[in-house]
Amino acid sequence: MSALNAESTAFRAALEVVRAVEPRIADAIAQELTDQRESLKLIASENYASPAVLLAMGNWLSDKYAEGTIGRRFYAGCQNVDTVEAVAAEHATALFGAPHAYVQPHSGIDANLVAYWAILADRVEAPALAKVGKRNVNDMTDAEWAELRQAFGNQRMLGMSLDAGGHLTHGFRPNISGKMFDQRSYGVDPATGQIDYDGLRAAAAEFKPLVIVGGYSAYPRKVNFRIMREIADEVGATFMVDMAHFAGLVAGKVFTGDFDPVPHAHIVTTTTHKSLRGPRGGMVLCGPELADQVDRGCPMVLGGPLSHVMSAKAVALAEARRPEFQDYARRIVENSQALAAGLTSRGATVVSGGTDNHLVLIDVDKYGLTGRQAEQALLDSGIVTNRNSIPQDPNGAWYTSGIRVGTPALTTRGLGTGEMDVIAELMHTVLSQTSPAGSKAKYDLDPALAERVSKQATELLADFPLYGSVTL
Ligand code: PLP
Repeated sequence: MSALNAESTAFRAALEVVRAVEPRIADAIAQELTDQRESLKLIASENYASPAVLLAMGNWLSDKYAEGTIGRRFYAGCQNVDTVEAVAAEHATALFGAPHAYVQPHSGIDANLVAYWAILADRVEAPALAKVGKRNVNDMTDAEWAELRQAFGNQRMLGMSLDAGGHLTHGFRPNISGKMFDQRSYGVDPATGQIDYDGLRAAAAEFKPLVIVGGYSAYPRKVNFRIMREIADEVGATFMVDMAHFAGLVAGKVFTGDFDPVPHAHIVTTTTHKSLRGPRGGMVLCGPELADQVDRGCPMVLGGPLSHVMSAKAVALAEARRPEFQDYARRIVENSQALAAGLTSRGATVVSGGTDNHLVLIDVDKYGLTGRQAEQALLDSGIVTNRNSIPQDPNGAWYTSGIRVGTPALTTRGLGTGEMDVIAELMHTVLSQTSPAGSKAKYDLDPALAERVSKQATELLADFPLYGSVTL
């Protein structure tokens, strides 16, 4: 049986089995493929995992409980989970050149929580235990324990501000990290839209954080992690990088040297499903100093490992170690640069004047629109993006003034720089023909124009079949 037939057969058979129990679920799964095939997906955090990754998730590894980690399980009979976890970690350490990988986190948020607790255990709990001459928190008196709990909640974190592209999990109040840490933000230089390293150094010197967090959700430039590590060392902070968005560019060797976080950070977290193109999930990389604390992630903050997802992570990481992945990562950036150039040449304003990575942030205030209006007008026209704050955003975090677009998904699909220019034209047409209508959410857009653009988007995608080996 050819690989092509095997993939179709596998997905068809799976749907048939599901349909026999709950047809609505089989239909929703099949419909999702149809919808994804028809959508011009520019969501910077999404991608299309390979059939091998998807198929690795639907199996009986899901039935096994395996709390703990290799060599320290709370359940018996975990030999196959051990294999899966070891193979995924082997690929992760080799791919990223990290001494240690913890592949259990169920998502990026979970990976960050694991990292934060590992840092607190290392920097706060261990010294508190040493001070009272005890090995375990269970041996502490109530008074010692109360003092330690006070200390946990009083640590400082310096992370990128939300409007500059930081993420809620980097110490912001709506997320648990903002309750665990007292957060202060660093931002970008308003003139360049790029990280102000001098400002960051000054903030670190004054605030003296326990943790400095690098990484972002919506920053379009390379980050110099060597400088950030220097700053962390100057103030004695642990340097953590959340590479959730750009892990694929690190894996694909687009970000090397000062721009590769792994050799510079004490601890690195990531998701596996964005530019890395794996299953939904997270991962933590670190050196031996933090490895033991990181490995306590389950049951410290995580539920039992999703062994079937870890197996899919292993498959995705094996794929990312192939030379083709480096070509893929390079094309992601070529495409986002082509998109930025295409938009700029038509009169759009992109934050920081361009991009070095997989995403472009368009300042739609220049079109007289809020991000909310722009996002919906583009969606009406068959172009899927998401609204995002821009630095010093006049419209706040809900309506926003930006549109974030990213190229990992369309690059997986095979679109290249020529197609990016067409997309830039379609986006500019919609944005320049949309006008605000009385509130920050309402807008006017000629439905005939939206329909014409939508048709052009569909025609563009017709040459790039998604999951072309799969017919249901
Ligand atoms: N960290 C960053 C930088 C992100 O952009 C995101 C998601 O958008 C996350 C963490 C959270 O990832 P997840 O949705 O897998 O929890």
